[in-house]
Amino acid sequence: MAWKTLDEVDLAGKVALVRVDINVPVENGVVTDATRILKIVPTVKDILAKGGKPVLLAHFGRPKGQVVPEMSLRPLVPELAQALGVEVKFAEDCIGGPAKTAVAALEAGQVLLLENTRFHAGEEKNDPELSAAMAALGEVYVNDAFSAAHRAHSSTEGVAHILPAAAGRLMEAELKALEAALGKPVRPVCAVVGGAKVSTKLDLLGNLVTKVDHLVIGGGMANTFLVAQGVDVGKSLAERDMAETAREILEKAKAAGCAIHLPVDVVVAREFKANAENETVANDACPEDAMILDAGPKSVEEIAGVFEASKTLIWNGPLGAFEIAPFDAATNAAAQKAAELTKDGKLTSVAGGGDTVAALNKAGAAEDFSYISTAGGAFLEWMEGKELPGVAALMK
Ligand code: AMP
Repeated sequence: MAWKTLDEVDLAGKVALVRVDINVPVENGVVTDATRILKIVPTVKDILAKGGKPVLLAHFGRPKGQVVPEMSLRPLVPELAQALGVEVKFAEDCIGGPAKTAVAALEAGQVLLLENTRFHAGEEKNDPELSAAMAALGEVYVNDAFSAAHRAHSSTEGVAHILPAAAGRLMEAELKALEAALGKPVRPVCAVVGGAKVSTKLDLLGNLVTKVDHLVIGGGMANTFLVAQGVDVGKSLAERDMAETAREILEKAKAAGCAIHLPVDVVVAREFKANAENETVANDACPEDAMILDAGPKSVEEIAGVFEASKTLIWNGPLGAFEIAPFDAATNAAAQKAAELTKDGKLTSVAGGGDTVAALNKAGAAEDFSYISTAGGAFLEWMEGKELPGVAALMK
């Protein structure tokens, strides 16, 4: 790998500035989902075990360069202490006097959390002065926030150029999984791209058709591709003005030798609601007053065959309106098939971005996937083939 891991930097007795993503959902002062906090535990514990002093840099909400008391990180201290099983101190600023004093007072075995980096306007501007003020606090920089790596901010990018830098364990796991899925994958590679709209996933589709052997297109965006092929999709969600773009993607795929799989049959209904009366029809037989809400069983069979013929799978977006039963059927069945093949050691499966994690959890399939990325925007930008500044800055 081109970046350093925690095993390759000297941490003994050193103050390690660790960029983490603990932007957890909080309601009435209570953390409602501590996943992000739990995910940084291995990195922080590892630094402690190596004799380092972890000083956490993090953002919380969107204070836009102002001190917004409701967006203080202080309320997260008890949750962090509980997850880490050590004492967690807090400093009222991520730079300057309060931070320096707290770092100096930090004892071996303790962790220090610095106040919201986004309270400084310089953070999102990647201001060199702010980066230098952060770097002045530590001796080593560790980035464990893959989910913030698509932003070139002081705490995610700037500091990495000033201090010796390494990837934390979560960042390392994420990068290894992504590398295995699209960097140097075992072929054949299959991608599933679903979701509502083509327009939000143009770059993603354009990049994938040049890299994968099979591309399964589902969800509302498949309707746009059907329209591009001259099919009448009735009242379905479809971006009719994107038909030409969809045709260009199909052409690009053909030139690159990527097989596109669109639904061959579809489940249609007249209302977008749970348990709406529905029927399964061929992909060109959606009634004028109905809408396509899911892929049908024949499509699922085809997708299962593609999965069986593949060694690597990368997945973003549901195959249908998965929030409302029974229009979650294709997403559930395909996800379960991928999980089964992965469990049997026949497939490496990586998924992430937006609703995908929720859809795979709902299908009961997430646990058996090789890797599920909880990073939304960063995962998508990486699937789009874009360089992530926070990752690029870690390169040796
Ligand atoms: P995205 O955020 O682009 O991944 O899109 C996910 C959303 O697309 C989910 O809320 C799904 O309900 C929705 N979706 C998927 N398929 C369809 C469809 N055929 N018609 C309407 N909405 C859909």
